[in-house]
Amino acid sequence: MIGRFRFDGTVLFANGAYARACGFAGTDMRGLNLCEILPPDRIEEILTLLTTLTRDASEVRFEERAGENWTLWKYCATDFDERGAWREVEVIGIDVTETKRMQNDLLKANALLLRVERDLNRAQRVAKIGSWWLDGRSGFCLWSDETYRIFGISRGEPRTFELFLSAVHPDDRACVEAAWSSALANKTDLNVQHRIAVGGAIKWLHQRASLSLDEDGRLVEACGTCQDITERKGWELELERRVAERTLAVSVARDEATRANAEKSRFLSAASHDLRQPLQAASLFTGALKRRVASEDQIALCDKLERSLSSASDMLRALLDMSRLESGAVAREPRAFRLQELIERVIANNRAMADGRGLRIVNGPNDLVAYTDAALFERIVDNFVANAVRYTEPGGIITISSYPTEGGLGVAVQDTGIGIPEHALGRIFDEYVQVGNAERASAKGLGLGLAIAKHVANLIGCRLHVTSRVGHGSTFSVETAAASAPSVQRVAAAPESTCTTAARPILILEDDPLVAEAVSMILEDAGFTVTCVKDGDEALASLRGGFRPVAILSDYWLPHENGVIVIGRLRAAIDAIVPVVFMTGDTSLQTRDVTLERCEVMHKPLDAKHILGALHKLAA
Ligand code: ADP
Repeated sequence: MIGRFRFDGTVLFANGAYARACGFAGTDMRGLNLCEILPPDRIEEILTLLTTLTRDASEVRFEERAGENWTLWKYCATDFDERGAWREVEVIGIDVTETKRMQNDLLKANALLLRVERDLNRAQRVAKIGSWWLDGRSGFCLWSDETYRIFGISRGEPRTFELFLSAVHPDDRACVEAAWSSALANKTDLNVQHRIAVGGAIKWLHQRASLSLDEDGRLVEACGTCQDITERKGWELELERRVAERTLAVSVARDEATRANAEKSRFLSAASHDLRQPLQAASLFTGALKRRVASEDQIALCDKLERSLSSASDMLRALLDMSRLESGAVAREPRAFRLQELIERVIANNRAMADGRGLRIVNGPNDLVAYTDAALFERIVDNFVANAVRYTEPGGIITISSYPTEGGLGVAVQDTGIGIPEHALGRIFDEYVQVGNAERASAKGLGLGLAIAKHVANLIGCRLHVTSRVGHGSTFSVETAAASAPSVQRVAAAPESTCTTAARPILILEDDPLVAEAVSMILEDAGFTVTCVKDGDEALASLRGGFRPVAILSDYWLPHENGVIVIGRLRAAIDAIVPVVFMTGDTSLQTRDVTLERCEVMHKPLDAKHILGALHKLAA
């Protein structure tokens, strides 16, 4: 829409659109005055604007709103007189409704953006997480307010990647550069924690960023966050310090407890050894006494004395074993062995007791090969069988069976005995638990056998099971690994011997005079001739004098050295493998496994029957 008018307001030209816009549609507007066609409420404003027109500022603008529609009026001076005052003005009206709407939308969007930015800045400040954007090619960075705050840099300063790197703590620079290189090389996100120095203080930051690379793997841009984790890191370091402190304290306490436990074990071992010596002598003297008394009453008394001494000895052994197991002083020596040999040994150990109680022990042979510590495994099976003998009424049957399991094998000892009530089954492997021995009669055991079996099983990685029905019997089983390689060692080789009959010379190596005297008495009663010596040197001296024993009975621990070494020296001196029976008060489970040729190990206190039995076994 276009119109033109003179300096006095007279309209010179008006097109149809202009006439319509001014409300004069169809009228020839020429000759009308501007004051007649302008909106009355704006005449003054427009006339004032027109007075400002000059040659240099020859255009003024004016916006008019009619309902939803907006018009932009441009008044342009097109002719001036010699004094520079305008003579003619051309007026152009443009419909700017759409532009105006877009401008309004833009303003609203801008206001919203400002608000979002303000909220984001607040959120970043609260969370102590700043954000940044990096142009990979120029190194130019955009930082959020929080990023500036974290880095302690004021907003106006230049923001470049180099500026960021220069703030990184010198000790962490290599690590930050390595993290960037790795993220670029592997096309992964950046994730690195590092320190920065800000005004003399150290801050910990956690940087995470997503990188955009071009086809050649060069960085195009990166967008990331940096979180101030100084506080959290402080807690972490404090926690680490406390954990280290605690760990040290626990380790000191554990060492102290281990030392105390080892001391307890040493004390118990020494006390046990010292107690066993008089027990040994008492037991042997009882045996000797039994041979010298004639009346049945006196023999019965001697039997009772022997039983009491034997149960005292069993208790001592159980207590010591328990202590050694608890202190971890028992070593494991796994190897492959034939199960059948072990079972036969256990049956032999318990045969006399079972016969005495009129029980039958049944065992089907097997060719299974186990892989574990043979002596410790035997101890578990032996305990099961001893219990089965103890808790089965005369006439009962004890069945020992072996069976393969997935990846291993097991031994089950089943009896037809008194059984165990269901409520007690869960407790019988605990220390000092006995069912039906409320009076704690010592002859009925100590309640330690199964506890020891459990400890031993844990030590060698075996599983124990029990099922039982009162009045019908119990089944105890132990399961272990099977041997992968067929290299089998015998559990214990029964030594051959040239020792045949009594009335043969025997050498007794024993430093305790009381025990030496008691053993001599037993052997002499049985028709042997006896030479007693108290250490290896005396024994060697007697051999040099031409003495040739058919067997040696020796304490395991002799003054200054152990019996195995002494026996080695003696056998070398006479160049003969003389059979040897070790008597020991040391129940350390290792001594049960002495691998010396033609040798028996017996634990004190022993009675006459044991000693003579061993000599006859060697002579067999
Ligand atoms: P102890 O036999 O010396 O009392 P154990 O620890 O070997 O100690 O056994 C704990 C308890 O478990 C025994 O007192 C006994 O009541 C019960 N028990 C163990 N084996 C059997 C069994 N074969 N039959 C019945 N009861 C058993």
